[in-house]
Amino acid sequence: MLPPWIVWSRAALLLGEQRKRRRRRRLMRRANAKLRGHCPICAADVTFLPADAGPRETPRCVECGSVPRHRALVSVLTRLYPSIADLHVHESSPSACTAEYLRRHCARFTGSYYLPNKRPGAKLGVFVNCDLGQQPFAAHSFDLVVTQDVLEHLPRPQPALREIERTLRPGGRHLFTVPRTPDQPTRARAEWRDGALHQLLPAEYHRDPTDKNGSLVVTDWGHDLEHLVASPGRSRCTVHTVLAPQHGILTPVEVFEVQTG
Ligand SMILES: [Zn+2]
Repeated sequence: MLPPWIVWSRAALLLGEQRKRRRRRRLMRRANAKLRGHCPICAADVTFLPADAGPRETPRCVECGSVPRHRALVSVLTRLYPSIADLHVHESSPSACTAEYLRRHCARFTGSYYLPNKRPGAKLGVFVNCDLGQQPFAAHSFDLVVTQDVLEHLPRPQPALREIERTLRPGGRHLFTVPRTPDQPTRARAEWRDGALHQLLPAEYHRDPTDKNGSLVVTDWGHDLEHLVASPGRSRCTVHTVLAPQHGILTPVEVFEVQTG
């Protein structure tokens, strides 16, 4: 019969070992969930970390913070242009990682946000105040306009799309991402009338780093998106579906390209 203090110390040791094993297993699981790959924005081999967001929002690059839809857009951009060094680019409501990328690689980069209480064209730090539906820019100002998950939030998408076309040089492109439901036609969740938005369907919000309340979804884009975003005879829309596990894009992400004639 062992003295009680030995029994207790053995039990404590066993418990400690079990705890250590559990911790090791937990760390292994986390390490396996990590994904190594090449980030087209960092232009480097990086680690992608999973998160509890949808497949367009995860995994995230630990270096630049990009998510699959950012990396998909940059992959398409570099595929479309042999060099982006000479481009004059406008991005509306830019995300930090792509704004930094475009600022670093393109000849001129204009980033814009919209604050209704400020003068159109006013400086907002390094950004410009711009209502996409009434832009302060001259016609044919840009080679490329980028919008990332912006179109679903615009109170009046059609005037904004026509304005984007007006500011593009002939042959210029509007490259964008937007969530869409392929098995239903586009529908308005809210309608702009008498200077205000009127809700047609229950209000839905997307996470917005600049607004703790989130961003109201105005349009559910559907299978007819390509026909709605282009102007007959003046521009055409191409869809690029990007699936690239090596870039941390684990499910297909759509990138839309509207090119002016
Ligand atoms: Zn990155």
